[in-house]
Amino acid sequence: MNWIDTHAHIYAESFQADLDQVLQEARELGVSRIYMPNIDVESIDLMLEVEQKYSEQCIATMGLHPCHVDKDFEKQLYIMEDWLSKRPFVAVGEIGTDLYWDKTYFEQQKEAFNIQANWAKKYQIPIIIHCRESIDENIELVAALKDERLTGVFHCFSGDLDQAKKIIDLGFMLGIGGVATFKNGGLDKVLTHIDPKHIVLETDSPYLAPTPHRGKRNSPAYIPLIARRVSELMSISEEEIANITTLNALRLFKAK
Ligand SMILES: [Zn+2]
Repeated sequence: MNWIDTHAHIYAESFQADLDQVLQEARELGVSRIYMPNIDVESIDLMLEVEQKYSEQCIATMGLHPCHVDKDFEKQLYIMEDWLSKRPFVAVGEIGTDLYWDKTYFEQQKEAFNIQANWAKKYQIPIIIHCRESIDENIELVAALKDERLTGVFHCFSGDLDQAKKIIDLGFMLGIGGVATFKNGGLDKVLTHIDPKHIVLETDSPYLAPTPHRGKRNSPAYIPLIARRVSELMSISEEEIANITTLNALRLFKAK
């Protein structure tokens, strides 16, 4: 089976000692492609190094994560905008809002989202949305900017069916990860009611490892574990989940 991890920060420090091995393990399990969302200005070089070294498997995106939006966010955006003009990127991300960690810069997070979503329109590439504790706010942000050029994914979706339907109506994908395997994750009530053509799989490595690795370092090699649970919830074979989610991911990132 062929899998795509649509969201993994494998350039993170916690992978520096054994990235070769982690990526090989993933490849052996069929995870042929990994999309790497950027975090802030500091992570760019690390991410691009990984992309260069493992160009067959790892693909970089460009954007400012909401948890790294502060009073100087425009300086960071300036550097990222420059990167987008210098070379092609397959997506703008990750962008969005986060009301879980710190609400101080919520207004700036929204402003940064709007600026970056407009870059995505300009380059006709998708956006990767981080929406922790703020799914409705991000649905609103997307709806306000929505036109046929704006596409993307709500990464680490953990909302309810109503929110899932709104996201699908906007033409966006749901990024399904380790939360699907959590006992009280709530995704059982969503996945049973939606068409698999609207989901992509992700790990969000090194965070949010699926059961039975919960609390430990996550890895792209755990995509099949997430898929197994999704397959149970959707009553579709794992093979079909692999085929459908891989096609969805390729469509999302306009890749071949
Ligand atoms: Zn992320």
